[in-house]
Amino acid sequence: MQYADVYVGYPIDGLFTYRIPDGLRVVPGIRVTAPLRSRTVTCFVARVHDDEPDGFKAKDIISAVDEEPIFDQRLIDLCVYVADNYISSTGEALAMALPSGRSPSKRFKNPFPESTPKSATLNDEQKSVYESVIDSSGKGGLMHLIFGVTGSGKTEVYIELAKQVIGQGRSVIFLVPEISLSSQVFERLHNVFGGDLIVYHSRLTANQRLYNWMRFYSGDAKIAVGTRSSVFLQAPSLGLIVIDEEHDGSYKENSTPRYNARRVAFRRSGEEKAMLVMGSATPSIESLYMAERGVFRLHSLKGRYGGSEMPSIEVVRVWGRRPENMLSAPLRLYTRKAIDEGRQAIFLLNRRGFAPFLICGDCGAVEECPNCSISLNVHSGGSLLCHYCGYTRKTPDACRACGSEKLERVGSGTQRVEETIREELMAPRVFRLDQDSASRKDTAYELLKKMKEGEVDILLGTQMVAKGFDFHNVTVVGVLLADIGMNLPDFRASERIFALLMQVAGRCGRGSAPGRVIIQTLNEEHALLRFLGRHDYEGFYRHELAARKALGYPPFSRLVRLLVRGKREERVEKQIAEVAAVMRRELSGVPGTAVLGPSKAPLSKIGGNFRHHVIIKAREMDPVRRAVRIARDGFAGGDSYLEIDIDPFDLM
Ligand code: ADP
Ligand code: ZN
Ligand code: ZN
Repeated sequence: MQYADVYVGYPIDGLFTYRIPDGLRVVPGIRVTAPLRSRTVTCFVARVHDDEPDGFKAKDIISAVDEEPIFDQRLIDLCVYVADNYISSTGEALAMALPSGRSPSKRFKNPFPESTPKSATLNDEQKSVYESVIDSSGKGGLMHLIFGVTGSGKTEVYIELAKQVIGQGRSVIFLVPEISLSSQVFERLHNVFGGDLIVYHSRLTANQRLYNWMRFYSGDAKIAVGTRSSVFLQAPSLGLIVIDEEHDGSYKENSTPRYNARRVAFRRSGEEKAMLVMGSATPSIESLYMAERGVFRLHSLKGRYGGSEMPSIEVVRVWGRRPENMLSAPLRLYTRKAIDEGRQAIFLLNRRGFAPFLICGDCGAVEECPNCSISLNVHSGGSLLCHYCGYTRKTPDACRACGSEKLERVGSGTQRVEETIREELMAPRVFRLDQDSASRKDTAYELLKKMKEGEVDILLGTQMVAKGFDFHNVTVVGVLLADIGMNLPDFRASERIFALLMQVAGRCGRGSAPGRVIIQTLNEEHALLRFLGRHDYEGFYRHELAARKALGYPPFSRLVRLLVRGKREERVEKQIAEVAAVMRRELSGVPGTAVLGPSKAPLSKIGGNFRHHVIIKAREMDPVRRAVRIARDGFAGGDSYLEIDIDPFDLM
């Protein structure tokens, strides 16, 4: 009789033993299905043996999902680590790590046109970074942070490193933020590596993912480019993990286990002796701090490739949020001039839709989402839309509170500004890039093509326009309202806004003509803007680090967020109070630990679920994890759910 020890893709810890029915081929490294309580779950086979289990009768495996192994012990070890760190079961971590497809299909069409590979020669600065990465890696210093200004050509350095590693017969994982997949990095990599490259992200079908996973696992493809879950891809011998734009929030997962791909990569680099190379023009405070302390080697690229200058940055005070005030005189002037000279502009307004509020001019009532604790956004075409849960309804003709017909649309989003630009700048060739336009399939491709061929005068959009684009004809960048998001109750708000502003500014003046950035703000005294005007990321870093230190926030502590969500607010409040009580009891007397709350989360209701949370600040994580497990095991559940977030990225 043969048995299999498996991890179950379910929130239960430990290995389970099932019997292998006669005639079914089951080997370690495949997925099978098996009965668990009253359901059928996917299981991950760790071991096959003939020791009859003691004290219970093993149930039969139902079916085998794979014919050949798709993972090995190294992935199990990694998932044990992830489960341990982020507090889930190992099976949940494996389910997250592995593709869910069932039969590998071979159909995957590259959406980008094939062009001839142009090979680049590194300039002196790039070469010296390349050499010092190789050099110190050879001596065992495997982890690196490249701090390179926008346009310094970090991609070319990554590519040379990848070539070197592949030349030694090892494999490369190249992580990119969500949106970049559709951008130029992918195209560039594809040009260089051709059929040796696979992509890996959630827009592929499950079967395509499985097919690509297998090509990488077998060593048939040597380089994989993809979003955060690519950090789990297995290879015969992994030589390099690149994390491009390492500051990007999309490296953090937002369902159980809530891992950070940066940390998982860090772990793999240590376990598999692979180089880890992260890069950014605006590195996260945490990574820069770790580099300062010698955990990563810090390398910098101070000049732009090809010698183009950093753009000049001008801060302009604007008054109020009325649409007619959205384009200041200097911004109009420079944009008009740029367009007349055949140049292009990028405008950032970090708010989608037409207007963020519909407010009654008589009684002041605001149209709110019935499921969420926020106002509904006005969208063009007469609809109101909730940006959190997707709830939508027609714009009413009259106030639902007092019946007045004086409904005002307050503030501006990208849709409204698009109209304003067309009218006031007489620039009909505006391309809008936001979540609404990006949901169309070919948006990214169309954008790249039109920008390149000069069919766009102004690219207008939300933070998406700040991400990695390399357009050489853009000479004006306008930030329409820099203040959006600055005052959110989240300690990372400044860091996020600063990086966003610096990144969008970095899209400017990449060609031979100099660039000009106009930052419009309601408050030109803001400290962030001083650093921005001087392109001084390091100054910002020092300033922000001092603030974090004073308040004991990361990197001077670790945070854990425990959040209860559920439909019944009273019950949620009661349950979060119990969670907080357990944490206080378990952590009393542990030095350097503080339990904050419970309190309503800033977004106190999303999708009909009330949200209350507790935040734990700690210096040592082991006692906190132990306490969290106790709180989790004692959590009554029912119709509410406990979200465990270790090192949360988002506190809203
Ligand atoms: P970053 O990611 O650092 O902002 P990019 O990698 O987008 O910068 O590079 C900026 C531009 O310079 C790109 O158009 C890139 O093709 C070009 N470039 C960078 N390094 C080289 C090189 N060594 N040879 C040729 N072109 C390069
Ligand atoms: Zn009213
Ligand atoms: Zn909603």
